[in-house]
Formats: sequence, structure tokens, C-alpha cells
Amino acid sequence: MSLRNTTYSISATLLITAALWWFFELPGVPSGLRRTSEPTPPVNVVIIAIDTMRTDFLGLSERPWIKAPNIKSLAADGTWFSRCQTTAPWTGPSFASLYTGLLPYRHGFFNRNFNSLDPDNPTMAEIFADNGYRTGGWVTIAFLTHAFGMHRGLQTGDKFTDHADGQTAHLVTASAARFTSSSSQKPFYMFLHYFDVHAPYTPPAPYDKMYVEGDPYSPGTPLLDRVLDPRINMEAHNTELYQWLNGVTDPDYPVAQYAAGVSYVDSHVGQVVSDLKEKGLYDETLIILVGDHGEHLGEHNIYYAHALPYEEVLQVPLIIKWPSSFEREVAVIEQRVSIMDVLPTVLEAVNLPVPDALDGHSLVKLARGKTSSTQSLLVAEQGESPDSYCKTITDGDWKLMLFKVESKFIPVLFNLADDPAETRNVAADHTDVTNRLAARLWEIFDPETPFGDYHVLSEKTVDEKELKRLKSLGYIR
Ligand SMILES: [Zn+2]
Repeated sequence: MSLRNTTYSISATLLITAALWWFFELPGVPSGLRRTSEPTPPVNVVIIAIDTMRTDFLGLSERPWIKAPNIKSLAADGTWFSRCQTTAPWTGPSFASLYTGLLPYRHGFFNRNFNSLDPDNPTMAEIFADNGYRTGGWVTIAFLTHAFGMHRGLQTGDKFTDHADGQTAHLVTASAARFTSSSSQKPFYMFLHYFDVHAPYTPPAPYDKMYVEGDPYSPGTPLLDRVLDPRINMEAHNTELYQWLNGVTDPDYPVAQYAAGVSYVDSHVGQVVSDLKEKGLYDETLIILVGDHGEHLGEHNIYYAHALPYEEVLQVPLIIKWPSSFEREVAVIEQRVSIMDVLPTVLEAVNLPVPDALDGHSLVKLARGKTSSTQSLLVAEQGESPDSYCKTITDGDWKLMLFKVESKFIPVLFNLADDPAETRNVAADHTDVTNRLAARLWEIFDPETPFGDYHVLSEKTVDEKELKRLKSLGYIR
């Protein structure tokens, strides 16, 4: 089934709506060679990627009522980067940045339809495969499969991408246990993708009752009255996305179930870690727990979806449990970092050469308690047409969202220290900051070709079940 004839939910219309919400008008730093020097024995690498996972729902510093003991103990064993930012508000481009250490306009996967990961950019899995690792990956959404060039470098694995209902975490976890049972002497690279935090928020028992108080279906005003009101929810048109809320009246229910999804996936993180420990592999394995984007839970007039690059969507979890040979000095790092930093960090930590000219920078120095002179540009990209897009840049406490809609640029500027919830556009009050940040964006992007020098790649195909699932998740219509 072709994706070409479908339409997208994150469309020009949404960008226009978002920009007009604020209304008003206005007009990468290349990295050098970085090589590691200290010899370390080969270590295994495990990436645990939790889709749609908000970093402020890990239960680490905020919302202590959320039970995620396994994530907590992984963080205690390693380093928690409490302000890690992704590069796009949805799955494909974010994971492609994780895989390649590049911004979307460079790695080429920013559009669900015509673009894939650029084959010229090596992926993390390819680099490990080329360096003698045994590689395997298990994914739960079509965007991470062959159709989008995201399978490259994985020697084994599977996709659990057509499960319209129910959870897929158990399939991923069981696959991981089989992969790590190999008698091979080679080190391994294992990528695990968990989708069970993503909407619909329908965790299995007993998690489905974990944070719910009372009867969410008791008589009252249906929650859908509010969620499907376009004056309240910019994603209200996505009716299929909200079917799971049929009959619910308790407005706290969705957030409770989102948190329950976190606890459920945490139990799988625990199973993966226990399995590694039982096999004597934990100490010598580098484990990265990371998210691809967060979720709007009503913030910015968007309910139970990830659509725009506000902080609730851009901030993602990043926890690194280092191998025992690594001298980790810092347990929590608050400096802002990027999902693009994961690739150079992992390579440096396992003593493999880091490719030149990545947009991401290694975080190894920071974890060792040293100052790092390099920091990634905190840029996020969204949009699929040169006439309608949004580029976001964060510098210190300032964050600029620069929308282009119908030939006009609309800047939205926040001071994240004064206004962490991003409720006041102060672009008009701080034109110097706005212009400075916009100029930095235009050092990276050409306004006329804002998605880089890409070409349209071959038509994608996904099977009927996958297409149905993507529709039910609101990705396509
Ligand atoms: Zn995602």
C-alpha cells in the first residue's frame, strides 16, 4: 500500500493554526575530527528506546508518584541527562538523528512520505556491524523499518508494527532475551523500541488500575466533548486517535493511564536489565535509555498527541549506564544536550572512531566531570514543504520557534527560565534576541530550501495492517 496518496496529520494546517495562535510578523556548527584515545575492551551496547516518553514522567525529579523503579536504578548506576532535547516532534526524524548524530535536514528523514534516511549517512547499527559487532533490532512502528531506510546495519531483528490493539513490549523483551542468549563471542549491539507509552493509553492489568481513582466512566460530561472541540484541541480533527476515550468522563484519566504506560514499560526495562545481570553481561554493557519525543497532555491546546516542538514534546529521557571500565563522575547532568549526542557518546565510550562532521557531540567529558567546550546546536525541525515549516532553536534560556506559513515568518520567542510552560510570546519585546536566534537558524538553513539538498526517494510501501495502524495512531489520514 503506497503512502504517497495519503495525507498527513501534522500538516500545513496545523502549523498555520499554531503560528496564528501567536500571530505577529518578522523577517550547525560543523564539528571537527574527534577520536578517542583510551583503550577499552569491547563492550556490548543496548539501546532501550521508549517512544513518546516524557522526561518529566520518569518519576526521577518530578511526579514522584510515578513508579518506575527500574529506570530509577538504571539512572542511579549511570548518568541521567535531565535536559535532553530531540530534533523533531515525531518518531521518524528523531530516531534518524539518534542513529546518525545529524539534524533532520542533513539525514534526510523529515517527511513521512517521500523521504527516507539518506543512505549516505551511516547509522549507529552500521558502524557497530562494520566494527565486528553482532547487531539486532526490534521495532514497533513502520517508521523504523526498511521502508524508511531505518533497518540499515541490523543483521537480525523483527518489526512488530501491525498490532492495532494491545501491547508489543513483551514481544520486544522476549526477542532481547533470545538475542543475548547467543553463544557468539562477538560483542553485541541491540536496539529495543518500546511503543506502549504511545496513545492510545491502554496499559494492561494491573497497570490499568495503578493511578486511576474512582470510576472514570461515572456519569458526567464526556471527556470527548472537550477533546474533540477544535476550539480547545488543535488535533480535534483526528477523531480516530481518541476512540479509546469513548465514555470516559474523568479528566484525569488520560494522564493516569499515560503514567501507567510508563510504569508498564519500566517493568520491561527491569526484565531486560535482569536478563543481562543473570547472564553476567550487565557490568560490561553500555545501556542507553532514550526517548524520541514527548507528548502534549493538554499543554498548548493539544491533547494526547505529539505535534509541535514545545518543551513537553522536545524534552526526552536520556540515561546512560556506562560499562564498568568507564570512570563516571557525574550522576545527573542538567546542561542541555541533544539526542544527536548519543551516537558520538556511545562510540567514544566503546573506543570506536567518531565520524567527522556530526551535528552531535560526545557527552563523555561531561560524564567524567570535565568541562566540554563543544555543545550541539539545540535545533528542532518540523514541516514538509518549503512554504510551511517550523524551525526551533534554544540558546541558554531563550527559545525561538520560527514558523513559516504562507510566505510569512512568524517568530515565537520564550524565555524558558521565566516562562517554562511557554505561555508568553515575547518576540516583540526582545527583537534583538529574536533576530539573533533567527540569524543563527539562517546560518544553518536556506529559507528557500529549508530541508537541505534532498531528492525524492522511491515510493514507500507498507502493508495494509501497518497502514491501518498508522491511521489509527493519527499519523496519516
Ligand atoms: Zn515516536
